[in-house]
Amino acid sequence: MNRRSVIGGALLALTALTASPAGAVPAGPGCFDRARNPYTSVVDSHLHFRPFGGPAIPFKELTGYLRRTGVRYANVYGIGQTLPADSACTYYLDCPGTKVTPSMKNDFANARDMLENAPKDLHLTLSMTFPDLAHPDGVLERMRLLEKEYPGRFRWMGEVNLVKQALLHNGHEPADRADIADWAPFMAELRARHIPLTIHSDLGNDGDHTEFLPLMEEVLERYPHNRVVWAHMGLSKELSAMDPGQHVRILRRLLDRHANLDLDISWRVLYDQYFSKPRARREYVPFLNRYAQRVLTGTDFVASRDKDFQTYKEELEVTSRINKYLDDDAFREIALGQSYFDLLHLRAAAPRVCR
Ligand SMILES: [Zn+2]
Repeated sequence: MNRRSVIGGALLALTALTASPAGAVPAGPGCFDRARNPYTSVVDSHLHFRPFGGPAIPFKELTGYLRRTGVRYANVYGIGQTLPADSACTYYLDCPGTKVTPSMKNDFANARDMLENAPKDLHLTLSMTFPDLAHPDGVLERMRLLEKEYPGRFRWMGEVNLVKQALLHNGHEPADRADIADWAPFMAELRARHIPLTIHSDLGNDGDHTEFLPLMEEVLERYPHNRVVWAHMGLSKELSAMDPGQHVRILRRLLDRHANLDLDISWRVLYDQYFSKPRARREYVPFLNRYAQRVLTGTDFVASRDKDFQTYKEELEVTSRINKYLDDDAFREIALGQSYFDLLHLRAAAPRVCR
């Protein structure tokens, strides 16, 4: 993406969305002209403000990245896998054997940053990332602690890990069926507070493409009234050669059966391994057009200090490339944010696309 389109995106978002990002966009003659405006998304629903280990990009700097790229809505995720404080590691894959654990520290740090520096021109949704799904005891109590300290602030949960194969060398223990049954108390609390839950659960791997599908289905069958967002549509680096047709058939079946399931298409791995290939797009584009109201976009950027604005800008651009192929209705839902606004019951409305 060239620099002009980034700046154009920022200008556009400022004019298309009202000064108060949560406010409704006034109805007017303006429409979004896809031929003249960037295709990068105005929502980043999957953004980790905390790194695995080491220093984070400061909150004000990161929110500046959003502003400069035209992103106006974002989820403030912690990270579901933190390295020990005494580790020199910033990325878990570089340190096999070092145990990673979810922690409340990130959620507290994000909440504090939000209170101290809440930007008025961005709509940020604070998310709880602390739960260890394989050890659900105590999740409800900790949710209540966060609510007591920061009343009404946390409106999302995730990304939390059900099965993440990339972490298996770092002591990550996938949740099993018995653990999922034990989620009941906190899942009830999420329902009562209308909080969506974003779950990272690998669909499978190049040995067995659907090895872990039964676990995700167990969640959906057991908790049909929880709003569940499936991160990356189950894809990962470990599953690089899934047949897109088979993948889409699985997703359609789950979406048709589970009305409260949404899909997250964040992470550049989806583009690099799938969306970049015309044969794969022939399957995914009609599917995304059909289910756009239930699809959320995001970068999956992780704010470790070894990255900078260029990295964020590139990840936003790459994860937005699929937007170019969407029809106008799907573009409005996904890239212009309508599906996200609806999921969070925001009063915002995406501009209509010029015909
Ligand atoms: Zn993530």
